[in-house]
Amino acid sequence: MFADARPRRFGIFASCLVAGVAIATALTSTLAPSAFDAAGALVEAPPAAPPAVEAVAQPTPVSPFEWAEITIRRNDTLDAIFRQMELSLADLAELRSLPDVRRSLDRLRPGDIITLTHLDGELKSLTRRMSDTATLSVTRSDDGFSANIIENPLEIEQTALAGTIDSSLFVAVNRAGGSDTLAVTLAEVFRYDIDFVNEVQPGDSFAVAYEQQWQDGEYVRDGEIAAAEFVNKGKTFRAVRYVMPDGSAEYFTPDGHSVRKAFLRFPVEFGRISSGFNLARRHPVLNRVRAHKGIDFAAPVGTAIKAAGSGRVSFRGVKGGYGNAVILSHAGGVTTLYGHMSRFARGLSVGDKVKQGEVIGYVGMTGLATGPHLHYEYRVDGVHRNPAKVPLPKAESIPAHLRADFEARTAPLLAQLDSISASSPTRVAQNIP
Ligand SMILES: [Zn+2]
Repeated sequence: MFADARPRRFGIFASCLVAGVAIATALTSTLAPSAFDAAGALVEAPPAAPPAVEAVAQPTPVSPFEWAEITIRRNDTLDAIFRQMELSLADLAELRSLPDVRRSLDRLRPGDIITLTHLDGELKSLTRRMSDTATLSVTRSDDGFSANIIENPLEIEQTALAGTIDSSLFVAVNRAGGSDTLAVTLAEVFRYDIDFVNEVQPGDSFAVAYEQQWQDGEYVRDGEIAAAEFVNKGKTFRAVRYVMPDGSAEYFTPDGHSVRKAFLRFPVEFGRISSGFNLARRHPVLNRVRAHKGIDFAAPVGTAIKAAGSGRVSFRGVKGGYGNAVILSHAGGVTTLYGHMSRFARGLSVGDKVKQGEVIGYVGMTGLATGPHLHYEYRVDGVHRNPAKVPLPKAESIPAHLRADFEARTAPLLAQLDSISASSPTRVAQNIP
Protein backbone atom coordinates (compact mmCIF):
# COMPACT_ATOMS: atom_id res chain seq x y z
CA MET A 1 0.00 0.00 0.00
CA PHE A 2 2.78 2.36 0.93
CA ALA A 3 4.69 1.55 -2.23
CA ASP A 4 1.53 2.13 -4.28
CA ALA A 5 1.13 5.59 -2.88
CA ARG A 6 4.50 6.65 -4.25
CA PRO A 7 5.31 7.43 -7.84
CA ARG A 8 6.52 4.32 -9.67
CA ARG A 9 9.89 5.84 -10.37
CA PHE A 10 10.67 5.89 -6.67
CA GLY A 11 9.38 2.37 -6.31
CA ILE A 12 11.89 1.23 -8.87
CA PHE A 13 14.74 3.17 -7.36
CA ALA A 14 13.89 1.90 -3.91
CA SER A 15 14.00 -1.71 -5.02
CA CYS A 16 17.25 -1.10 -6.89
CA LEU A 17 18.81 0.44 -3.83
CA VAL A 18 17.58 -2.40 -1.65
CA ALA A 19 19.11 -4.85 -4.11
CA GLY A 20 22.30 -2.82 -4.00
CA VAL A 21 22.39 -2.92 -0.25
CA ALA A 22 21.67 -6.65 -0.24
CA ILE A 23 24.58 -7.26 -2.60
CA ALA A 24 26.74 -4.94 -0.54
CA THR A 25 25.82 -6.79 2.63
CA ALA A 26 26.72 -10.07 1.02
CA LEU A 27 30.03 -8.58 -0.12
CA THR A 28 30.76 -7.21 3.31
CA SER A 29 30.07 -10.47 5.07
CA THR A 30 32.24 -12.47 2.70
CA LEU A 31 34.99 -9.88 2.57
CA ALA A 32 35.18 -9.27 6.28
CA PRO A 33 36.61 -12.69 7.35
CA SER A 34 39.34 -12.57 4.72
CA ALA A 35 40.22 -9.09 5.89
CA PHE A 36 40.58 -10.55 9.36
CA ASP A 37 42.79 -13.36 8.01
CA ALA A 38 45.03 -10.89 6.27
CA ALA A 39 45.26 -8.84 9.42
CA GLY A 40 45.95 -12.00 11.43
CA ALA A 41 48.80 -13.00 9.16
CA LEU A 42 50.34 -9.58 9.49
CA VAL A 43 49.98 -9.57 13.26
CA GLU A 44 51.96 -12.83 13.64
CA ALA A 45 55.45 -11.33 13.49
CA PRO A 46 55.22 -8.19 15.63
CA PRO A 47 54.20 -8.46 19.29
CA ALA A 48 50.71 -7.53 20.32
CA ALA A 49 50.01 -3.91 19.53
CA PRO A 50 48.97 -1.44 22.24
CA PRO A 51 45.18 -1.27 22.81
CA ALA A 52 44.88 2.18 21.24
CA VAL A 53 46.32 0.95 17.91
CA GLU A 54 44.18 -2.17 18.11
CA ALA A 55 41.10 0.00 18.23
CA VAL A 56 42.18 1.72 15.01
CA ALA A 57 42.82 -1.66 13.37
CA GLN A 58 39.19 -2.70 13.88
CA PRO A 59 37.87 -3.56 10.42
CA THR A 60 35.65 -0.76 9.22
CA PRO A 61 32.72 -1.96 7.11
CA VAL A 62 33.66 -2.11 3.45
CA SER A 63 31.92 0.81 1.83
CA PRO A 64 29.65 -0.88 -0.75
CA PHE A 65 29.31 -0.03 -4.38
CA GLU A 66 25.69 0.63 -4.99
CA TRP A 67 24.17 -0.90 -8.02
CA ALA A 68 21.12 0.39 -9.85
CA GLU A 69 19.17 -0.57 -12.91
CA ILE A 70 17.19 2.28 -14.39
CA THR A 71 14.40 1.85 -16.89
CA ILE A 72 14.05 5.00 -18.97
CA ARG A 73 10.64 6.63 -19.00
CA ARG A 74 9.28 9.26 -21.32
CA ASN A 75 11.07 12.60 -20.99
CA ASP A 76 13.85 11.20 -18.81
CA THR A 77 17.26 12.76 -19.22
CA LEU A 78 20.56 11.57 -17.82
CA ASP A 79 20.87 14.88 -16.10
CA ALA A 80 17.60 14.38 -14.24
CA ILE A 81 18.51 10.80 -13.39
CA PHE A 82 21.92 11.81 -12.02
CA ARG A 83 20.36 14.56 -9.93
CA GLN A 84 17.64 12.30 -8.61
CA MET A 85 20.13 9.61 -7.63
CA GLU A 86 22.52 12.21 -6.23
CA LEU A 87 25.28 11.07 -8.55
CA SER A 88 28.21 13.33 -9.40
CA LEU A 89 27.31 15.76 -12.16
CA ALA A 90 31.02 16.28 -12.76
CA ASP A 91 31.23 12.57 -13.62
CA LEU A 92 28.37 12.98 -16.06
CA ALA A 93 30.11 15.90 -17.75
CA GLU A 94 33.31 13.84 -17.99
CA LEU A 95 31.38 10.90 -19.47
CA ARG A 96 29.87 13.10 -22.09
CA SER A 97 33.25 14.46 -23.11
CA LEU A 98 34.43 10.97 -24.15
CA PRO A 99 34.48 10.46 -27.90
CA ASP A 100 31.27 8.79 -29.14
CA VAL A 101 29.80 8.42 -25.68
CA ARG A 102 27.78 11.59 -25.76
CA ARG A 103 25.95 10.40 -28.86
CA SER A 104 25.40 6.96 -27.37
CA LEU A 105 24.09 8.31 -24.11
CA ASP A 106 22.03 11.34 -24.93
CA ARG A 107 19.44 9.72 -27.13
CA LEU A 108 17.35 7.90 -24.53
CA ARG A 109 14.22 6.05 -25.48
CA PRO A 110 11.50 4.92 -23.09
CA GLY A 111 12.18 1.34 -22.08
CA ASP A 112 15.97 1.62 -22.45
CA ILE A 113 17.85 0.16 -19.54
CA ILE A 114 20.90 1.71 -17.95
CA THR A 115 22.78 -0.06 -15.21
CA LEU A 116 25.37 1.65 -13.10
CA THR A 117 27.47 1.24 -10.01
CA HIS A 118 28.60 4.08 -7.83
CA LEU A 119 30.29 4.72 -4.52
CA ASP A 120 28.75 7.56 -2.56
CA GLY A 121 27.57 9.17 -5.77
CA GLU A 122 30.88 8.75 -7.55
CA LEU A 123 30.24 6.79 -10.73
CA LYS A 124 32.23 3.55 -11.08
CA SER A 125 30.70 1.96 -14.13
CA LEU A 126 27.79 2.34 -16.47
CA THR A 127 26.34 0.16 -19.19
CA ARG A 128 23.64 0.86 -21.67
CA ARG A 129 22.20 -1.57 -24.17
CA MET A 130 22.35 0.27 -27.48
CA SER A 131 20.64 -2.37 -29.56
CA ASP A 132 20.10 -6.10 -29.65
CA THR A 133 23.71 -6.55 -30.50
CA ALA A 134 25.66 -3.67 -28.97
CA THR A 135 26.17 -2.52 -25.40
CA LEU A 136 28.01 0.60 -24.33
CA SER A 137 30.22 -0.08 -21.34
CA VAL A 138 31.94 2.71 -19.41
CA THR A 139 34.30 2.00 -16.52
CA ARG A 140 36.34 4.24 -14.27
CA SER A 141 40.04 3.58 -13.92
CA ASP A 142 42.78 5.58 -12.27
CA ASP A 143 43.11 7.86 -15.27
CA GLY A 144 39.46 8.54 -15.80
CA PHE A 145 36.61 6.93 -17.66
CA SER A 146 37.06 4.66 -20.62
CA ALA A 147 34.29 3.48 -22.90
CA ASN A 148 33.86 0.68 -25.34
CA ILE A 149 31.10 -0.94 -27.30
CA ILE A 150 30.61 -4.64 -26.70
CA GLU A 151 29.25 -6.41 -29.77
CA ASN A 152 27.15 -9.52 -29.40
CA PRO A 153 25.85 -10.48 -32.83
CA LEU A 154 22.63 -12.36 -33.46
CA GLU A 155 22.87 -15.77 -35.03
CA ILE A 156 20.42 -16.36 -37.85
CA GLU A 157 18.97 -19.81 -38.23
CA GLN A 158 16.87 -20.86 -41.22
CA THR A 159 13.85 -22.89 -40.31
CA ALA A 160 10.49 -23.87 -41.76
CA LEU A 161 7.06 -24.99 -40.64
CA ALA A 162 3.68 -25.83 -42.10
CA GLY A 163 0.15 -26.33 -40.87
CA THR A 164 -3.55 -26.40 -41.60
CA ILE A 165 -6.09 -23.97 -40.20
CA ASP A 166 -9.10 -25.18 -38.25
CA SER A 167 -9.99 -22.17 -36.13
CA SER A 168 -7.61 -19.28 -36.75
CA LEU A 169 -4.30 -18.51 -38.38
CA PHE A 170 -2.79 -17.66 -34.98
CA VAL A 171 -3.80 -20.98 -33.45
CA ALA A 172 -2.55 -22.92 -36.46
CA VAL A 173 0.81 -21.13 -36.57
CA ASN A 174 1.26 -21.54 -32.81
CA ARG A 175 0.43 -25.22 -33.01
CA ALA A 176 3.04 -25.65 -35.76
CA GLY A 177 5.60 -24.06 -33.41
CA GLY A 178 5.56 -20.50 -34.76
CA SER A 179 5.08 -17.20 -32.94
CA ASP A 180 2.23 -14.69 -33.22
CA THR A 181 4.66 -12.37 -34.99
CA LEU A 182 5.22 -15.03 -37.62
CA ALA A 183 1.44 -15.31 -38.13
CA VAL A 184 1.13 -11.54 -38.56
CA THR A 185 4.08 -11.40 -40.96
CA LEU A 186 2.64 -14.26 -42.97
CA ALA A 187 -0.69 -12.44 -43.29
CA GLU A 188 1.22 -9.31 -44.34
CA VAL A 189 3.07 -11.09 -47.12
CA PHE A 190 -0.24 -12.14 -48.70
CA ARG A 191 -2.32 -9.13 -47.74
CA TYR A 192 -2.79 -8.01 -51.35
CA ASP A 193 -4.36 -11.28 -52.38
CA ILE A 194 -6.06 -12.67 -49.29
CA ASP A 195 -8.42 -10.96 -46.85
CA PHE A 196 -7.26 -12.61 -43.63
CA VAL A 197 -10.12 -11.18 -41.58
CA ASN A 198 -13.01 -12.42 -43.69
CA GLU A 199 -11.82 -14.99 -46.20
CA VAL A 200 -9.62 -17.47 -44.36
CA GLN A 201 -11.46 -20.71 -43.61
CA PRO A 202 -10.91 -24.13 -42.04
CA GLY A 203 -8.88 -26.34 -44.36
CA ASP A 204 -6.71 -23.46 -45.59
CA SER A 205 -3.04 -24.32 -45.18
CA PHE A 206 0.32 -22.63 -45.06
CA ALA A 207 4.02 -23.35 -45.29
CA VAL A 208 6.72 -20.88 -44.27
CA ALA A 209 10.50 -20.84 -44.57
CA TYR A 210 11.80 -18.15 -42.26
CA GLU A 211 14.67 -16.89 -40.13
CA GLN A 212 14.97 -17.22 -36.41
CA GLN A 213 17.28 -14.93 -34.50
CA TRP A 214 19.27 -16.38 -31.63
CA GLN A 215 21.78 -14.91 -29.22
CA ASP A 216 23.97 -16.78 -26.76
CA GLY A 217 21.99 -19.94 -27.39
CA GLU A 218 18.66 -18.28 -26.63
CA TYR A 219 15.82 -17.63 -29.01
CA VAL A 220 15.33 -13.87 -29.52
CA ARG A 221 12.66 -13.51 -32.17
CA ASP A 222 11.50 -14.54 -35.59
CA GLY A 223 13.11 -12.70 -38.47
CA GLU A 224 12.17 -12.35 -42.11
CA ILE A 225 10.02 -14.79 -44.00
CA ALA A 226 12.15 -16.09 -46.89
CA ALA A 227 9.38 -17.91 -48.72
CA ALA A 228 5.78 -18.72 -47.98
CA GLU A 229 2.79 -20.51 -49.35
CA PHE A 230 -0.86 -20.02 -48.46
CA VAL A 231 -3.68 -22.16 -49.80
CA ASN A 232 -6.94 -20.22 -49.52
CA LYS A 233 -10.16 -21.95 -50.60
CA GLY A 234 -8.14 -24.35 -52.70
CA LYS A 235 -6.17 -21.61 -54.46
CA THR A 236 -2.41 -21.62 -53.89
CA PHE A 237 -0.46 -18.39 -53.40
CA ARG A 238 3.32 -18.37 -53.15
CA ALA A 239 5.78 -15.63 -52.40
CA VAL A 240 9.57 -15.44 -52.15
CA ARG A 241 11.62 -12.63 -50.67
CA TYR A 242 14.24 -11.03 -52.87
CA VAL A 243 16.66 -8.28 -51.94
CA MET A 244 16.99 -5.69 -54.70
CA PRO A 245 20.38 -4.14 -55.54
CA ASP A 246 19.43 -1.01 -53.55
CA GLY A 247 19.01 -3.17 -50.44
CA SER A 248 15.22 -3.00 -50.29
CA ALA A 249 13.42 -6.32 -50.04
CA GLU A 250 10.21 -7.30 -51.75
CA TYR A 251 8.08 -10.39 -52.16
CA PHE A 252 7.55 -11.85 -55.61
CA THR A 253 5.62 -14.76 -56.99
CA PRO A 254 7.91 -17.63 -58.07
CA ASP A 255 7.67 -16.37 -61.67
CA GLY A 256 8.91 -12.91 -60.68
CA HIS A 257 5.77 -10.79 -60.35
CA SER A 258 5.59 -8.51 -57.35
CA VAL A 259 2.94 -9.72 -54.90
CA ARG A 260 2.39 -6.09 -54.07
CA LYS A 261 -0.27 -4.17 -55.93
CA ALA A 262 0.07 -0.51 -56.74
CA PHE A 263 -2.89 0.09 -54.38
CA LEU A 264 -4.05 -1.23 -51.04
CA ARG A 265 -7.61 -2.57 -51.00
CA PHE A 266 -8.00 -1.37 -47.43
CA PRO A 267 -6.42 1.97 -46.58
CA VAL A 268 -7.25 1.52 -42.90
CA GLU A 269 -6.10 -1.32 -40.69
CA PHE A 270 -8.66 -3.43 -38.82
CA GLY A 271 -11.49 -1.48 -40.44
CA ARG A 272 -14.76 -3.22 -41.20
CA ILE A 273 -16.69 -2.34 -44.35
CA SER A 274 -19.83 -0.63 -42.99
CA SER A 275 -21.19 0.59 -46.30
CA GLY A 276 -20.24 -0.55 -49.76
CA PHE A 277 -20.16 1.06 -53.17
CA ASN A 278 -23.81 1.64 -54.11
CA LEU A 279 -25.08 4.01 -56.73
CA ALA A 280 -28.65 4.04 -55.28
CA ARG A 281 -28.20 4.26 -51.55
CA ARG A 282 -30.41 6.18 -49.11
CA HIS A 283 -28.05 8.57 -47.36
CA PRO A 284 -28.11 8.01 -43.59
CA VAL A 285 -27.84 11.71 -42.75
CA LEU A 286 -29.62 13.36 -45.69
CA ASN A 287 -32.26 10.56 -45.77
CA ARG A 288 -32.62 10.61 -49.52
CA VAL A 289 -31.33 8.46 -52.31
CA ARG A 290 -27.83 9.53 -53.08
CA ALA A 291 -25.17 7.42 -54.74
CA HIS A 292 -22.50 6.11 -52.39
CA LYS A 293 -19.50 6.38 -54.65
CA GLY A 294 -17.02 4.92 -52.24
CA ILE A 295 -16.57 2.45 -49.41
CA ASP A 296 -17.01 3.19 -45.72
CA PHE A 297 -14.70 1.51 -43.24
CA ALA A 298 -15.93 1.70 -39.66
CA ALA A 299 -12.98 2.05 -37.28
CA PRO A 300 -12.37 3.80 -33.96
CA VAL A 301 -11.57 7.53 -34.01
CA GLY A 302 -7.83 7.95 -34.33
CA THR A 303 -7.17 4.78 -36.36
CA ALA A 304 -4.41 5.51 -38.87
CA ILE A 305 -5.43 6.01 -42.50
CA LYS A 306 -2.81 4.98 -45.06
CA ALA A 307 -2.18 6.19 -48.56
CA ALA A 308 -3.63 3.42 -50.75
CA GLY A 309 -0.91 4.01 -53.31
CA SER A 310 2.16 6.15 -53.86
CA GLY A 311 1.37 9.57 -55.23
CA ARG A 312 1.10 13.26 -54.48
CA VAL A 313 -1.24 15.19 -52.17
CA SER A 314 -3.57 17.24 -54.39
CA PHE A 315 -6.02 18.34 -51.67
CA ARG A 316 -5.89 18.61 -47.90
CA GLY A 317 -8.60 20.47 -46.03
CA VAL A 318 -12.32 20.68 -45.37
CA LYS A 319 -14.44 19.56 -48.32
CA GLY A 320 -18.21 19.94 -47.71
CA GLY A 321 -19.90 16.75 -46.50
CA TYR A 322 -16.56 14.89 -46.63
CA GLY A 323 -15.36 16.95 -43.67
CA ASN A 324 -11.59 16.84 -43.32
CA ALA A 325 -10.45 15.20 -46.53
CA VAL A 326 -7.28 14.30 -48.41
CA ILE A 327 -7.12 13.62 -52.14
CA LEU A 328 -4.09 11.87 -53.63
CA SER A 329 -3.14 11.81 -57.30
CA HIS A 330 -1.45 8.68 -58.59
CA ALA A 331 0.03 7.44 -61.83
CA GLY A 332 -2.37 6.33 -64.59
CA GLY A 333 -5.00 9.00 -63.89
CA VAL A 334 -6.02 7.44 -60.58
CA THR A 335 -7.07 9.64 -57.65
CA THR A 336 -8.06 8.45 -54.18
CA LEU A 337 -10.09 10.39 -51.62
CA TYR A 338 -10.20 9.92 -47.84
CA GLY A 339 -13.00 11.65 -45.91
CA HIS A 340 -14.34 12.37 -42.40
CA MET A 341 -10.83 12.44 -40.90
CA SER A 342 -10.45 13.58 -37.30
CA ARG A 343 -7.06 15.06 -38.19
CA PHE A 344 -4.38 15.02 -40.84
CA ALA A 345 -0.95 13.48 -40.49
CA ARG A 346 1.44 16.01 -38.97
CA GLY A 347 3.09 18.15 -41.61
CA LEU A 348 1.08 16.78 -44.54
CA SER A 349 0.46 19.46 -47.17
CA VAL A 350 -0.60 19.85 -50.78
CA GLY A 351 2.16 18.87 -53.21
CA ASP A 352 3.82 16.40 -50.81
CA LYS A 353 4.88 13.04 -52.17
CA VAL A 354 3.51 10.09 -50.22
CA LYS A 355 4.42 6.43 -50.35
CA GLN A 356 1.96 3.57 -50.36
CA GLY A 357 1.12 2.71 -46.76
CA GLU A 358 2.28 6.06 -45.39
CA VAL A 359 -0.09 7.48 -42.75
CA ILE A 360 -1.92 10.53 -44.12
CA GLY A 361 -4.53 11.07 -41.40
CA TYR A 362 -6.76 9.54 -38.76
CA VAL A 363 -10.31 8.21 -38.70
CA GLY A 364 -12.95 10.62 -37.42
CA MET A 365 -16.50 11.77 -38.13
CA THR A 366 -16.13 15.27 -39.52
CA GLY A 367 -18.58 16.37 -42.24
CA LEU A 368 -21.78 14.41 -42.84
CA ALA A 369 -21.16 11.27 -40.81
CA THR A 370 -23.26 9.38 -38.29
CA GLY A 371 -20.29 7.65 -36.68
CA PRO A 372 -16.51 7.35 -36.94
CA HIS A 373 -15.48 5.87 -40.28
CA LEU A 374 -13.27 6.41 -43.28
CA HIS A 375 -15.04 7.22 -46.52
CA TYR A 376 -12.76 6.07 -49.33
CA GLU A 377 -13.14 6.75 -53.06
CA TYR A 378 -11.14 5.49 -56.03
CA ARG A 379 -11.45 7.27 -59.37
CA VAL A 380 -9.89 6.53 -62.74
CA ASP A 381 -9.81 9.59 -65.02
CA GLY A 382 -12.40 11.24 -62.79
CA VAL A 383 -14.84 8.30 -62.89
CA HIS A 384 -15.75 6.65 -59.57
CA ARG A 385 -14.90 2.96 -59.45
CA ASN A 386 -15.70 0.46 -56.74
CA PRO A 387 -12.49 0.21 -54.68
CA ALA A 388 -13.40 -3.33 -53.63
CA LYS A 389 -13.78 -4.58 -57.19
CA VAL A 390 -11.64 -2.45 -59.47
CA PRO A 391 -8.68 -4.42 -60.88
CA LEU A 392 -5.68 -2.92 -59.12
CA PRO A 393 -2.60 -2.17 -61.16
CA LYS A 394 0.30 -4.45 -60.24
CA ALA A 395 3.57 -3.23 -58.82
CA GLU A 396 6.60 -3.82 -61.02
CA SER A 397 7.99 -7.28 -61.76
CA ILE A 398 11.61 -8.43 -61.47
CA PRO A 399 13.57 -6.43 -64.06
CA ALA A 400 15.00 -8.53 -66.88
CA HIS A 401 18.63 -7.96 -65.87
CA LEU A 402 17.95 -9.39 -62.37
CA ARG A 403 15.96 -12.37 -63.55
CA ALA A 404 18.83 -14.89 -63.51
CA ASP A 405 19.96 -13.82 -60.05
CA PHE A 406 16.36 -13.93 -58.81
CA GLU A 407 15.91 -17.48 -60.02
CA ALA A 408 19.21 -18.67 -58.60
CA ARG A 409 18.50 -17.20 -55.18
CA THR A 410 14.88 -18.24 -54.86
CA ALA A 411 15.14 -21.80 -56.18
CA PRO A 412 16.43 -23.27 -52.89
CA LEU A 413 13.73 -21.40 -50.94
CA LEU A 414 11.01 -22.78 -53.16
CA ALA A 415 12.53 -26.25 -52.83
CA GLN A 416 12.36 -25.84 -49.06
CA LEU A 417 8.67 -24.90 -49.33
CA ASP A 418 8.08 -27.94 -51.52
CA SER A 419 9.60 -30.20 -48.91
CA ILE A 420 7.22 -29.10 -46.14
CA SER A 421 4.09 -27.95 -47.93
CA ALA A 422 0.98 -30.09 -47.53
CA SER A 423 -0.11 -29.21 -51.06
CA SER A 424 3.20 -30.22 -52.58
CA PRO A 425 3.31 -33.38 -54.69
CA THR A 426 6.77 -34.18 -53.26
CA ARG A 427 5.38 -34.10 -49.76
CA VAL A 428 2.41 -36.27 -50.62
CA ALA A 429 4.76 -38.80 -52.23
CA GLN A 430 6.96 -38.78 -49.12
CA ASN A 431 3.95 -39.47 -46.93
CA ILE A 432 3.02 -42.66 -48.75
CA PRO A 433 4.14 -45.51 -46.51
ZN1 LIG B 1 -19.10 7.01 -47.30
